[in-house]
Amino acid sequence: MKPLAFLVLLYLPICSTSPLNGSAKQEDPDMDLVQQYLENYYNLTKDMKPFERRKDSSLVVKKIQEMQKFLGLEVTGKLDSATLRVMRKPRCGVPDVGRFSTFPGTPKWKKTHLTYRIVSYTPDLPRHVVDSTIDKALKVWKDVTPLTFSRTYDREADIMISFVVKEHGDFFPFDGPGSSLAHAYPPGPGVEGDVHFDDDEKWTEDMSGTNLFLVAAHELGHSLGLFHSTNTEALMYPLYKSFTDLAQFRLAQDDVDGIQSLYGNKFWAIRGTEVQANYPKSIRTLGFPPTVRKIDAAVSDVEKKKTYFFVGDKYWRFNENSHSMEQGFPRLIAHDFPGIEQKVDAVVKEFGFFYFFSGPSRFAFDPNAKTVAHAMNSSTWLYC
Ligand SMILES: [Zn+2]
Ligand SMILES: [Zn+2]
Repeated sequence: MKPLAFLVLLYLPICSTSPLNGSAKQEDPDMDLVQQYLENYYNLTKDMKPFERRKDSSLVVKKIQEMQKFLGLEVTGKLDSATLRVMRKPRCGVPDVGRFSTFPGTPKWKKTHLTYRIVSYTPDLPRHVVDSTIDKALKVWKDVTPLTFSRTYDREADIMISFVVKEHGDFFPFDGPGSSLAHAYPPGPGVEGDVHFDDDEKWTEDMSGTNLFLVAAHELGHSLGLFHSTNTEALMYPLYKSFTDLAQFRLAQDDVDGIQSLYGNKFWAIRGTEVQANYPKSIRTLGFPPTVRKIDAAVSDVEKKKTYFFVGDKYWRFNENSHSMEQGFPRLIAHDFPGIEQKVDAVVKEFGFFYFFSGPSRFAFDPNAKTVAHAMNSSTWLYC
């Protein structure tokens, strides 16, 4: 713990509106705060000369505007009291721009079952409370995705969770009490996916200190591939928000949309009228490319253990034995199912035929003869 650092933060001057010109004093504590904040969270080049020595402050003003816009403040480009107040609030240590967002592609787990391990504990809470809190935080994301989690105790897990202080081996040291509370890495091997909590905070189960559940749920969002949101209602907004009643906690639609853009477009397995156990799952788990967001129709050929997925004018074939998408797909529906020219709404396999439903039309397709055996209108089907 560093009580001195905490006191310095508490007694910073509240208001400063023009600190970026050459007249700013070198020892102005706001300058350190601003430079550090912009370096840490807004990718201000680390080797830039201190502001007070710069004649041209346009880049810094641009960065302040960028920060104000991101955090939902009035965009003035000036360090007004409202801006400084927000900059002193406790927050997530993951940048709002730069670093993670510069990773190529959209980092996400390529599997739906993930492991986690609690490597070290905080002395602030009993171990069983930390365990149940992490479990609860994971459930927040589990409830809206096909993801599942299991805990490991002695081996490398996808998500390694630890409580650490100051420099802790990843070149992103923590800063003592307040300011940066925790950080986490996007999905991937090694340190990626891991969550680090700053143990110089006072971690609590309620809102009397820094609430572990709220911070853990936020950081685990990063571990699953979410970046910061500019939506002030979102869990993934970078600043720590307290709740008067934790029972009121809900993910914002923004969070749900974000995580489902990575792991949603779910599918269900239905036998008769019953949804089977362990569903829904993400269609990503089947091996579709990210461009496929919606499946028009699907049908299983039980004898051949193949499942056909129809998307637009193409189809994919999934091998139920190898649990993988077959090579050489997608293929054109019209090529392999001649006579089926329109968008497919539904398909049923019965009596050796594929029955295609397309708008008001129904087609009985004979897969052996590779031809439409007969076409029907909707009323003909209803008696079955
Ligand atoms: Zn964060
Ligand atoms: Zn770290």
